[in-house]
Amino acid sequence: MFVYNEKYVSKREGYYYSCPWIEHGLVFFKYKLGICCNCGHEGNAQLLQRNNYVGQKIDWNRIFQVKDIYRKFHKKGKIHTGCVNCPYLKEDKWDNTRYIDNLYISHWSDCNSRCIYCYAANNPEEFKSNYNKSKYNILPIIKEMHEKGILRPGGMISFGGGEPTVLEEFEDLVTYLLDNYYWGIRVHTSGIKYSPALARAINEIRGYVVVSVDSGSKEVFKEVKRVDAYEKVRDTVRKYALQTTFLGRYLVSAKYIIIPGINDTIEEVDKWMNANYDAGLYTTVLDIEEGWYLKNRYNIPPHIYKIIEHAKKRAKKLHSNFELYERLQNVMADKARK
Ligand code: SF4
Ligand code: SF4
Repeated sequence: MFVYNEKYVSKREGYYYSCPWIEHGLVFFKYKLGICCNCGHEGNAQLLQRNNYVGQKIDWNRIFQVKDIYRKFHKKGKIHTGCVNCPYLKEDKWDNTRYIDNLYISHWSDCNSRCIYCYAANNPEEFKSNYNKSKYNILPIIKEMHEKGILRPGGMISFGGGEPTVLEEFEDLVTYLLDNYYWGIRVHTSGIKYSPALARAINEIRGYVVVSVDSGSKEVFKEVKRVDAYEKVRDTVRKYALQTTFLGRYLVSAKYIIIPGINDTIEEVDKWMNANYDAGLYTTVLDIEEGWYLKNRYNIPPHIYKIIEHAKKRAKKLHSNFELYERLQNVMADKARK
């Protein structure tokens, strides 16, 4: 589990290798509590705090004891195997105080979309049969953490996994965080349901929202999302964009996951970018479907590069900020190395 690794031995007094999640992070998953949810690197970790968790009272002392165990080993250069080569691992003079400031809430209990590329949507029992068994409310736990001084502002509070806005407690949860002066609230959403609390978070420059649109037309949207809600999503994007100020112009973005064979045309990407521009968005984000990418990473067809280059140029013309998610950054880096 913890293995000595010379490259993680710090020679500097008081320094050791760790990350913001080991030090001050907590993840609420379906059925478990995690330290982090980063699994894209060699160590492939989703490090656990405890299994079989569905909202039971948390033993905070135990949570921090687990963090102390990591610190003890990491200080000696013995790194958790799941952390090896993780980009978050770095040498620093870490603050060992017992508090949490990075939260990730990944409920996987329901969604209002049925994306063609989503494992849960393609296995409906993931959302349905587990719904009552795995679902628990986070708000009482957040309140307890806040009242006990365990939760502190300063990190990131992220929502993902399933659709956050359909959680019954979502509006109250975000409102509670805002009323108690937290910031860095980050939500990936289908955009099918508009959230006034999120709009407030954007307006106050404390919320960051990514809406997955994946299309520039009603027809392609329906093919990708398998629900008829294109206009609703565009309306949500417009309403969130209206909340942004110049300072907060990066806070709302629309995402387009390229799904080869379905939406991989320049025409569709152009329609998506034009609609974002009309909505008043400053940032657009391009990604590629994970399953396809894993199979085809080293055999990318030329038209995918063309789409990326075209979208970059188009963003420049529209004076928009343009981002590639990690998979497409890899695609371009692989191309440059060829
Ligand atoms: S180093 Fe990476 S894998 Fe390990 S806990 Fe931190 S974020 Fe997770
Ligand atoms: S919005 Fe997310 S959780 Fe919902 S179906 Fe799409 S990928 Fe799955």
